[in-house]
Amino acid sequence: THCASSKVLELYKRIKMKDRYYLAKAITLVESTRKDHRVEAQQLLSLIMDAQHERTKEIGDSAPTFRIGLSGPPGVGKSTFIERFGMYILSQGHRVAVLAIDPSSSKTGGSILGDKTRMPELSYHDDAYIRPSASHGTLARNTNEAMILCEAAGYDICLIETIGVGQSETMVAEMVDMFVLMVPPAGGDEIQGLKKGIVEISDLIIVNKADGVFANAAREASADYTSALKYLHPSTSVWNPKVIRVSAKANSGLDEAWKLMQEYYHAMKSSGELSKKRGEQRSLWMWRQITSELLDRLNSDKEICELVDQLEQKVFNGEMTSGTAADHVVDTFTRKYSGAK
Ligand code: GDP
Repeated sequence: THCASSKVLELYKRIKMKDRYYLAKAITLVESTRKDHRVEAQQLLSLIMDAQHERTKEIGDSAPTFRIGLSGPPGVGKSTFIERFGMYILSQGHRVAVLAIDPSSSKTGGSILGDKTRMPELSYHDDAYIRPSASHGTLARNTNEAMILCEAAGYDICLIETIGVGQSETMVAEMVDMFVLMVPPAGGDEIQGLKKGIVEISDLIIVNKADGVFANAAREASADYTSALKYLHPSTSVWNPKVIRVSAKANSGLDEAWKLMQEYYHAMKSSGELSKKRGEQRSLWMWRQITSELLDRLNSDKEICELVDQLEQKVFNGEMTSGTAADHVVDTFTRKYSGAK
């Protein structure tokens, strides 16, 4: 029912064949802000979604993939962990894609440090696909769509990592099945320093560097987080967030971490919570898209921009209420475009 262009059909076919070169091309396409690219990107994503829908009807599994978000302060050991953990899940017969969100890179326009140096072994493995963050634009939406492309290319485990700090953690939590927070072996007062909100949305807290001189501190941190979690409401009734100690460097605890992740996945899936969560996330992204699209259109209209500038000054001076100004802008915009296609 879709009229996809032959370029899009070709991309789709190649992605299905697990062709990494075309997967990369497709991700570049969804990252593009060009209007014609946006159209093609949506055609491609629709083809993928339709196929998934058919497959769901066939096998009765609406989420045959597992999306894991991983956040944590810089230096906590995320790269080291992903490298080792990635290799571990490959050994379990999975194919893994690693995508990164780096809000700070949108300012510099550059990409993060080479992933080949961050994850040397994983990045050369045939069954792993590592994609650095996009360097501009609406990062989170791009990552969300890139993840769907990776899944279509047969990567059944997607790891979404946050590189920078900021609002990216919530963004990541909103596109994954499970949100994992990695923390250093320090507890007590330092937990207070962590944004409370981030502990609240975590399904699993990994205390890394539980080795050598840090072993005791890691044990204390783990106890502190465990008691902190007791006072928080779990986001779902089928899972209580857990705390685990690992050492990415010493390669220990990774199997237990994976075991917990699978437990979570199965609990969410068998209860129907997972497909509900994904559905809610899709609606949320629709609204995100609507908001940003409308804002883009407002901002690209010169007349409206001038009006906004004038009104903003009045609001700033206290001559007009914020609400009146907002109504005025929206009314002007709607009147201007009503009837226009
Ligand atoms: P990221 O910024 O979160 O990606 O952190 P990295 O993976 O780059 O690690 C930061 C530093 O911590 C590096 O020097 C790592 O070697 C070290 N590191 C990572 N994992 C461990 C661990 O399990 N134990 C110890 N002792 N050091 C670690």
